[in-house]
Amino acid sequence: MDGYIPQRRPIIDPHGRGITYLRVSVTDRCDFRCVYCMAEEMTFLPKADLLTLEELDRVCSAFVGLGVRKLRLTGGEPLVRRNIMELIRSLSRHLKTGDLDELTITTNGSQLSRYADELAACGVRRINVSLDTLDPDKFLAITRWGKFDRVMEGIRAAKEAGIRIKINAVALKGVNDMEFDDLIAWCGREGHDLTLIEVMPMGDIGGETRIDQYLPLSLVRADLARRWTLTESDHRTGGPARYYRVEETNGLLGFITPLTHNFCESCNRVRLTCTGTLYMCLGQEDAADLKTPLRSSESDAPLIAAIEEAIGRKPKGHDFVIDRRHKRPAVGRHMSVTGG
Ligand code: SAM
Ligand code: SF4
Repeated sequence: MDGYIPQRRPIIDPHGRGITYLRVSVTDRCDFRCVYCMAEEMTFLPKADLLTLEELDRVCSAFVGLGVRKLRLTGGEPLVRRNIMELIRSLSRHLKTGDLDELTITTNGSQLSRYADELAACGVRRINVSLDTLDPDKFLAITRWGKFDRVMEGIRAAKEAGIRIKINAVALKGVNDMEFDDLIAWCGREGHDLTLIEVMPMGDIGGETRIDQYLPLSLVRADLARRWTLTESDHRTGGPARYYRVEETNGLLGFITPLTHNFCESCNRVRLTCTGTLYMCLGQEDAADLKTPLRSSESDAPLIAAIEEAIGRKPKGHDFVIDRRHKRPAVGRHMSVTGG
């Protein structure tokens, strides 16, 4: 039938949640070394271990065939993967057929001025850009290697290309907690939404411990509510963020609070690493190998069976805890491996 778009039903996990969202870490490498994410000296995976762009396309497309409606490419820094636009261009075919609602990225913004127009042309309508501070010196201290002006230029280029921007800022005690008002006001003026993120205990980051960085967002929200009118919004992404409308700026303000709030009951997502490992939960170690079934056959049947089997054991929730008795990360892998 002309114009008929088949509605694929998502896979339902054992807890009744439809899996409609796949996040893919396309590389574990990055041109920054943010203090909460990576140690300064990192050992990255040998390039030979990564799925090729063609293989990433095959896995993503298999998920789309199984009812995934939203794909987010992340990392590491997705835009430093060589020829990444080939993958994005190829995946955009699923937007055209209507099988995918959204193709998006989470980026540190360093390469955005180069790619913004092409991303928009591929149908990327919204992106997340990580920016923890508006102070160039602090930006350098947090990212270790980042260039503030280049990121701001990238954000401007994306906005000019017509892409909506959500700024992600990790809340760091004693580092950017005095700046949230400025971030809210700046995002309001620029028309960006803003999400504050609690530090999650993932991966060894060298000298600092998470208890030094951890700032409960419940306290931040109560403090912000003294100066801003925050109206609860029904905006939901199926993820850990809860959103408020800032009446003074009309912008959305999200809080990602995996530690002070449990968000697992509405979790609609799974995560694929750049080596083809599927994590059913950001905060659990259980994983499924998709590389072997992917490479075992030209047919997608073994891959699809492996995906279905893996989602069949998606856990009910995570076990994140940060306190003085839990100084080691709750999960050993870095956020840049699973994809934030
Ligand atoms: N490089 C890209 C970027 O920075 O946006 C994408 C990958 S990064 C791992 C994704 C998000 O995870 C970023 O917003 C980053 O701030 C956040 N992140 C990294 N490590 C984190 C941690 N330990 N706790 C909370 N958020 C973290
Ligand atoms: Fe790189 Fe993003 Fe991690 Fe920062 S948060 S080191 S930009 S992957």
